[in-house]
Amino acid sequence: MKFDLLIKGGEVVDAGGGHEGNLDVAVTRGRIAAVDSDIPADAAFQVIDASGQLVAPGLIDLHTHVFRKVTYWGIDPDPVASRSGVTTWNDAGSAGALTLAGLREFIVDRARVQITAFLNISNIGLVSDNHECANLAYLDVGLFRRLADRNRDLVHGVKVRLGTPTVGENDLEPLRRARQAAEECELPLMVHIAIGPPEIEGVLALMRPGDILTHCFTGLTMKLVDDRGQLYDFAKRAWDAGVIMDIGHGTGSFSFETAEALMAAGRSPDVISSDLHQLSAHGPAYDLPTCMTKFLHLGMPLRDVFEAVTSRPAEVLGIERDAGTLRPGSRADIALFRLHRGRFPLYDVSGAMREARELLTSTLTIVGGRPLELLPPEPPAPWVEHPVWPESIRPFTEQQERLRELGHTPEAMAAAAERDATSSQTTG
Ligand SMILES: [Zn+2]
Repeated sequence: MKFDLLIKGGEVVDAGGGHEGNLDVAVTRGRIAAVDSDIPADAAFQVIDASGQLVAPGLIDLHTHVFRKVTYWGIDPDPVASRSGVTTWNDAGSAGALTLAGLREFIVDRARVQITAFLNISNIGLVSDNHECANLAYLDVGLFRRLADRNRDLVHGVKVRLGTPTVGENDLEPLRRARQAAEECELPLMVHIAIGPPEIEGVLALMRPGDILTHCFTGLTMKLVDDRGQLYDFAKRAWDAGVIMDIGHGTGSFSFETAEALMAAGRSPDVISSDLHQLSAHGPAYDLPTCMTKFLHLGMPLRDVFEAVTSRPAEVLGIERDAGTLRPGSRADIALFRLHRGRFPLYDVSGAMREARELLTSTLTIVGGRPLELLPPEPPAPWVEHPVWPESIRPFTEQQERLRELGHTPEAMAAAAERDATSSQTTG
C-alpha cells in the first residue's frame, strides 16, 4: 500500500511524538502513517522535499481571536495559517454565551484549520474592544454553564480579561465568577492581565494549578516582576504550583525587559502564543513564528520553543492525542519552516529593539494531510484605525505606523536574508 504523501529529508522537531533528527514523515488518509529514516520516495504518491527545513507538528496557538466580522478583534485564520504553520487556533474569549452559536456556524465549521474556544465569562464576549466585564449583568454563570455543557466539543476553557478598562469598578468580581464557572464546568481558566486594578497578587491568589495566566511577560502594571526585575514571591509560588504561563504577545503584552529578567532567572514560558488579532497582526507580533523567533533570541532552545507551540498547548486544551504531535495515528497537521541566519531587528510592544541572528519563517502548512495553498492576506477591519471609545488608546500605535512605513515584516526580513545568502554564494 502506498502512502498519500511523504515529507522527505527534513529535520524533525516533535517533542510530543518523541521524534527528533533527520527523519521522513508519511501520511495516509489524513493521518500520520509513519515517521522513520529513509522511507523510499516511490512509497508515496506525492513527495515533498524538505531538505534544509524543519518539520514539526502543525502549530497550536493557544491565544488568538478568529470571530471575524462579529467582534472587534477577529481575523480570518486561514490566510494567516497558510503563511505561519498554525493549524489549531484556540479562540481566547471572542465569543460569550450569547454569541457562541455564531462562532461555531460562521467560523469554526467553515475554516480550513481546526478551531477550539475558551468561552468568555461575559456573555457578550469581545463584540467591542473593551468593557465587557464592566457590567456584571453580563456575567451570568448559569447561562455560561448551559452553553458550555451543550458545546463540550468546542469549549475547552473559560476566559476572563482583567484590567481597569475591562472591569471598571468591579475589581476581582469578574474573576470570582469565572472561577465559579471553571469549577462548575471542570474547565481550565485563562486570565488576561494588563493595567490594574485589580492587583496581580489578588488575581494569582484566585488561580489554581492548570489555569492559564496569559500575557505573563507583560511590562504593564500587573506584571509579575517588580521594577528591579525581581519575580514577586507570590508569583513564584503560583508558577511553581503549576499555573500555566502563556505569552499572548498581542499589541500590549510582550516586553523584552520583563522577558529578559524572567529568562535570566531561569523562568521560560510554558506556552508561546501570539494573541493574534486585528491590531497585532500588523506587528510587532505579526505571527506565531515571529513570536517563536523572539524566544530563540532570548536563549530558549529550539526544541523547547517548538514544545511551547505544539505538545504543551495540546495538553492545556486536552487534545494531545490528536494534535501537536507527529505520533502515527494522529491528525496529519504538519508545518515546515526555514531558519534563516543574518541580522534581524525584532521589536517588543514598547518599541524596544533586539537584533536576532536567527529568523524562523513558515514554508508550508499541511492541514489533515493536505497542503494549504497561500491565501491572500485579509485587509484590516474598518475600525482598527479609529478609537471606539473616547478614552481608548489609538488602535494603531505610532510604533505600528512606523513599522508599516518601513515595510518591516518577517517576510521582508527573510527575503533580505535570502538575497544576502545568494549574493555571498555567488561572490564567495
Ligand atoms: Zn487576546
